[in-house]
Amino acid sequence: MLGTLQDGGSPHMGCEKLCCSEPKPQDFVSSLGVVGNEKSFIFDATPDVVSQTNFLKSQAAENTLEVFLTHAHMGHYTGLMHLGREASNAQATAVYVMPKMRLFLEQNGPWSQLVTLKNITLKPLVANQSVVLEKYLKVTPIKVPHRDEYSETVGFIIQGKNKKALYIPDIDKWSKWSVAIYELIKTVDYAFLDGTFYADGELPRPMSEVPHPFVKETVELLKSLPFEDREKVYFIHLNHTNPARNPDFQGRLENKKLGFHFAKFGQSFEL
Ligand SMILES: [Zn+2]
Ligand SMILES: [Zn+2]
Ligand SMILES: [Zn+2]
Repeated sequence: MLGTLQDGGSPHMGCEKLCCSEPKPQDFVSSLGVVGNEKSFIFDATPDVVSQTNFLKSQAAENTLEVFLTHAHMGHYTGLMHLGREASNAQATAVYVMPKMRLFLEQNGPWSQLVTLKNITLKPLVANQSVVLEKYLKVTPIKVPHRDEYSETVGFIIQGKNKKALYIPDIDKWSKWSVAIYELIKTVDYAFLDGTFYADGELPRPMSEVPHPFVKETVELLKSLPFEDREKVYFIHLNHTNPARNPDFQGRLENKKLGFHFAKFGQSFEL
């Protein structure tokens, strides 16, 4: 687990409230790292990508790094900037992308320069089609509803030798999705899910402008699952304002009793 916060991170620009008054060094934007036998992968390239890939390297120093992107919102792809000539000057780092995301990167600077200078090699993804990365590692993108201004948005199913993880950092409401999350949870071993906001009223503006399933709604939706299924859920992508960032928050403690987790930086999961 390389990061658990929403795109804007914490401290959040302009926030003078308690939520951002005591920043922790490992409060990074949502990302997963996957360590394979020969390669390592990051799911989303966040503004915190340097610290995150350094941490990942400490787990598997010899591995080459490859990248999967969910969508073109700032917390999920702008870390690519560190692959460019001004920074690490990467040599053909594989970046797996959906078709609109690919066009967005190819047709807009400064990202297009990463392509023309061959810092990155874009690898096309097709929804619901698995990419085999290693003998025991495959990844399947699944489309999810989200504010798709520049690209489509996907989540990923990451399948190792024995276990499967579901990664959905950003989605509008569960009810807008053609897939029933309730059923999907039963088919995976870990589910890292959008927990941006805890409940309605958290922002001083209409929250319908930035729709996400509230943690409260997700818990309500999933609480009739057997305990062993509820335990698979780890909330990620928490907004700086989310009260559940505080380990002593009552709602968080209650959800924990029901089996639901809030992910922590550095947690590792066997696949
Ligand atoms: Zn996001
Ligand atoms: Zn804040
Ligand atoms: Zn987004």
